[in-house]
Amino acid sequence: MIKINLPLLVFTFGLLFCGNANAQQSIYDSASEARMYRDVFILASDSFKGREAGTIGEQMAADYIAKQMLQIGLLPKGDSTGSYLSRFRMNYPVIYKDAKLRIENIVFKHKEEFGATDLSSQGNVTAPFINIGKGIPGSTQKEKAYDVAGKIVIIDIASGSRKDGNEVLPEDIIYLVKSVVKQGGVGVILHNSSRKTTEDVLFGSPFTESLTVPVVYLARLPYNKISKISTGTCTLSVEIDRTVSKPANVIGWIDNKSAKTVVIGAHYDHVGITKSRTGGDKTLQIHNGADDNASGTAALLELARWAKDAKSLKYNYIFAAFSAEEKGLFGSKAFCTRSWVNNDTILYMLNMDMVGRLGCQGDTISAIGVASSHVWDQFLDSIQHPDFSIRKINGAPAFSDHAPFLKKEIPVMYFTTGLHPDYHTPNDDTEFINFKGMVELQRYMQNFIRSAESLPAIPFQKIHSLQNTKAYIQTFK
Ligand SMILES: [Zn+2]
Repeated sequence: MIKINLPLLVFTFGLLFCGNANAQQSIYDSASEARMYRDVFILASDSFKGREAGTIGEQMAADYIAKQMLQIGLLPKGDSTGSYLSRFRMNYPVIYKDAKLRIENIVFKHKEEFGATDLSSQGNVTAPFINIGKGIPGSTQKEKAYDVAGKIVIIDIASGSRKDGNEVLPEDIIYLVKSVVKQGGVGVILHNSSRKTTEDVLFGSPFTESLTVPVVYLARLPYNKISKISTGTCTLSVEIDRTVSKPANVIGWIDNKSAKTVVIGAHYDHVGITKSRTGGDKTLQIHNGADDNASGTAALLELARWAKDAKSLKYNYIFAAFSAEEKGLFGSKAFCTRSWVNNDTILYMLNMDMVGRLGCQGDTISAIGVASSHVWDQFLDSIQHPDFSIRKINGAPAFSDHAPFLKKEIPVMYFTTGLHPDYHTPNDDTEFINFKGMVELQRYMQNFIRSAESLPAIPFQKIHSLQNTKAYIQTFK
């Protein structure tokens, strides 16, 4: 019988096991690296033409990401059953070429005294006008007094016009203007007699559907020139160049039957084919956006693979690949218009934008938005990584997809490896991506997500504008 040297045996097995565990870890790491390499390589390939929102390149990228989500086994959370695609209307670009407004013999200055609104269509009308004040053309007895057919209608959007006296919402104004159109009105001039109601709901929304008549907004002081004129003739013309497209967010999730959900997001669109931001060569070139943000998208898919296999995660996890970030955060804004996106349901939002260049800012990654919850600062100190340090940035300026979530008072954490000279140039290519760094970042974020589950609460905290200004400087210096 052979004499077993137990300590030796244990040591050997330990070695084997350790060896095995390390071997397993490095197999996992290299498989993870290979998967992320493949995703970045494909998304940042010329055939995707720089993935500009609203183009075929973006569509191809959306299909690729949806296929990955299906393979991972995420539940689809798109518009229709079984779909990961969640489309939104995007008015971009919208060029207000020109507009004219003349009431009786008073001519108003475009862009100074009045301007075309998001609701406006192109058009040129001369017709009698009617001023209905805070009235609503339409259904109830009293309002039938306003015969708007064939007329240009002047409406006061001041909050008084809402029965409950509350702030006038975009949908209220849309309802008003739609009632005018339904009653045969041929143009609309909106003004605002109250200082409470903010007219900026009329401008700059990428989602608003335009209506079939010219709709302009006349500022408060210029309106006084005509406030006493009750009837007469008006000429109203608007010239707009509005490109409408339907980009898609790609959304999948893991339903752990929890009351709380975490949103993990990364935009997958980029700037497409355009002139380089730097250098003399001003020809149109494909901007492949390997770091911005094929890297974040690949990291998102890899976190989904991990979370899908991870045992005992207690919250639900939504994985959202946003589009049209480069156009103005339109994808994440559209996502946040959903009623269930609120700080009761959503515990926090983790954003990844440009996570492929670990080392470009020394061995640090930036954690942006630390002040969006008072627990983040200490929590970040509790999670270390041997290969890099965490640069904590309190503010979270609106330069990536975390911003619309902050507006909904949802705590955010935005990770990035930082800016580099290839940012938004044709040189942001796959060969410059630090994939080993992305594997280490994966390990760090997996630790972050799992450890965040043991936090008793992650209360929202409003970020002060000074913190945002400082964060902007810290990020772009
Ligand atoms: Zn980006």
